[in-house]
Amino acid sequence: MLKYESTYSNLTADLLSKYPDLTFKLAGDFLKIFSSNSDHYCQITTYLTEKGQQYYDFPPLASRPRKIVVKALPISTDIDDIKDELTDQGFTVVKVAQLTKAKTKHKLPIFMVELTIRPDSPDIFKLKTCCHLMVKIDTFNRRPGITQCYNCNLFNHSSKYCHMRTRCLKCGQEHRIKNCDSKEKMEKLTCINCKEVGHLASSFSCSKYPQIKKKTEKVQNANENRNSFQANKVTVKDFSYADALQGTNLIPKQSTSKSDTQTTTQSQNSPHPTANENTNEKPFGIMDAVFEIKKLFADYPFLLELGKQLRAAKGKDRKDVFYEHIIKN
Ligand SMILES: [Zn+2]
Ligand SMILES: [Zn+2]
Ligand SMILES: [Zn+2]
Repeated sequence: MLKYESTYSNLTADLLSKYPDLTFKLAGDFLKIFSSNSDHYCQITTYLTEKGQQYYDFPPLASRPRKIVVKALPISTDIDDIKDELTDQGFTVVKVAQLTKAKTKHKLPIFMVELTIRPDSPDIFKLKTCCHLMVKIDTFNRRPGITQCYNCNLFNHSSKYCHMRTRCLKCGQEHRIKNCDSKEKMEKLTCINCKEVGHLASSFSCSKYPQIKKKTEKVQNANENRNSFQANKVTVKDFSYADALQGTNLIPKQSTSKSDTQTTTQSQNSPHPTANENTNEKPFGIMDAVFEIKKLFADYPFLLELGKQLRAAKGKDRKDVFYEHIIKN
């Protein structure tokens, strides 16, 4: 995503002369650059950086670090021990972080590991033990939400891949919010994205705050329902994996590197279904009950017949019918 400038035609012509396969599309204040050749990715980003362009990008999937979670370790496990152990087993560990409950920030016995995948890297999903214990490896699913870049405070990209000018969330100047010395009260602050007074650009009430598409929400709900239906078998993966690298919901003190994006999750008017955050399992809902009853009848078909006969029988006879069935089965 290249920030649109009125002089864009010189730039696009120059790029096209080098990479004829490129296509460009205007998207708001940005130009989207598409390439069918992933090898050009580095060359194009280097070119844009050299030209002093403001842009952010999405590296090819294969070159991004892989995030997984390690389960079944004690809650008190030191993240450095996990890092050392995985390194000894041949993995290239970028970062280990312990996940926490979203609201209470209490530690969970789940550890997010970020790995760089090299051609000779072992398969992390085949990892059997860590810190002398048998462990379970799962994919890391971010909690659904909007990502806001720590660097430029625009949305849907990570500051890791952001080459935009830094914009302070509070005052809009070229520094990060942690370095801001503005004493202005919230009521007088001007939002750096919509320019209205009285809220920050990270506020859900901002008109520029991205809306989550309803279609996606429906799909998510469907997935959630399916997951809860199978709750007795499957651990629901996208329960509160606090936004691992994303700072606020993690245990940042022992992290080996700094967080890159902030994923804002809406505590009020949340469009997402709320997972049970106290345990790793979904609550036992109506659908689960229906499922269990169905299963019971499937496993013991005579119960249906028994029900019919009990309804038909009266008084003392009922007991006899019941005993008869017990003897038969
Ligand atoms: Zn950015
Ligand atoms: Zn500032
Ligand atoms: Zn705003």
